[in-house]
Amino acid sequence: MPSGNLVTAPVSDLADMLRTLQPERLPGEFVYVTWPETKPRPDVPILATVREAEGETLVLRAADAEALGLPIHLRAAWITLNVHSDLAACGLTAAFSRVLADAGVSCNVLAGTYHDHLLVPAEQADKALAALIELQRGAETRDNQCRNCLAILTGPSCAQCGQARFVEADRRMSHLVRQFFDNLTSLDSRFWRSLLGLMFRPGLLTRDYLDGRRQRWMAPVSLFLLANVLYFFAPAINDFELPFGDQVPGAMALAANPALQSLDEPRRERMRQNSGQIHSSWTANWVTRRVAERDAAARSEDPSSGYSVADYARAYDARSADVSKLLIIMHVPMMALMSMLVLWFRRRYFAEHMVVSLHLFAFVLMVTMTVLLPIEYLVRWTGWPIESGMFKLVFPALIVGYSAITFRRSFDLGWLAAIATALMVLAGLLIGNVLIYRFVQFAIIFALT
Ligand SMILES: [Zn+2]
Repeated sequence: MPSGNLVTAPVSDLADMLRTLQPERLPGEFVYVTWPETKPRPDVPILATVREAEGETLVLRAADAEALGLPIHLRAAWITLNVHSDLAACGLTAAFSRVLADAGVSCNVLAGTYHDHLLVPAEQADKALAALIELQRGAETRDNQCRNCLAILTGPSCAQCGQARFVEADRRMSHLVRQFFDNLTSLDSRFWRSLLGLMFRPGLLTRDYLDGRRQRWMAPVSLFLLANVLYFFAPAINDFELPFGDQVPGAMALAANPALQSLDEPRRERMRQNSGQIHSSWTANWVTRRVAERDAAARSEDPSSGYSVADYARAYDARSADVSKLLIIMHVPMMALMSMLVLWFRRRYFAEHMVVSLHLFAFVLMVTMTVLLPIEYLVRWTGWPIESGMFKLVFPALIVGYSAITFRRSFDLGWLAAIATALMVLAGLLIGNVLIYRFVQFAIIFALT
């Protein structure tokens, strides 16, 4: 019920609207009643009507409705927000309904051209008015607006962007220091939780990710990259790093490594029979050609010098460890592809198989660094009598077991299906490693050396 004689330009900025909210309770009580459309309207002031399929809703003064003997659906207090809010403005309704909801007040909104009118249960009128006045006061002092996104605050932190309510103390040094430690420890807690979950509860992170429970854990890519970075700085000890001697035919490997000349003749003969990797038969020619070019170039400058396969092998091996560690990432999509093929009937997204692979690989890298590497050093330094062959069996078994549990948990497979899936995926990965990875690794290092 606007007074009508105070028409001003409509306000559309949310902060301005809240600062000039001016909630005002009209005297008396008001009621919701229903009225059959066919019947002529009662001869009392009708404050609002809503026409619905079931009939017409009228808002009347309580006294009028009582005089007419009409059944009353809601007995309400009428609060007008005197701000001249633009009909097209955004956020005002959301702002006051949020503070009213927080105060436990139910609220029916009628919007007029000039103002919003709130019909709240009569017994809650004081509570509602207090909440609205508080909302206006907050806007006047800018206390209830999120400094970050300007959303209206109803609690200690912003419901929209999550930033904590800004207070004067946040300008001080103590805040800067506390924030630093908060960030450090929150990163720490999520990091450690993810790491321990990854190591000791196979498949848990993956299943949570697939089911959409993602807040607790580090993102799969971050976890993998972190493991990768740690791995990058760890000494290389496993088969991902293929030195020159493993990438070329045995005869060339023999020529490249003077130390091998001391081997007995039968073993050297066995090496000469070894044709190396699948790609070696033709990539060996690349090496031969390059060594010949460099040899010729060296001799043209100084006839007494030269360049041998051994020189090239040394340069190659100086690069291979780092390149291999970077290229390990290639295995992740290869594994995801295998997993997708094997579990095709599950109809999952490729990205979901990527997550499985990222977690599995993060695990492999972490185990390599935390278990394999220390044992390797222990054996090397103390001469601890452990057959390294044992690890060559235990480690793959561990990976197969871990993968099987991960597949079982992630895709609700039975034990047999999970183990079969793990074996097939890992076998596929091995094939990908032999056919693709080894060649790409060689080609890249060759290009760089
Ligand atoms: Zn915010």
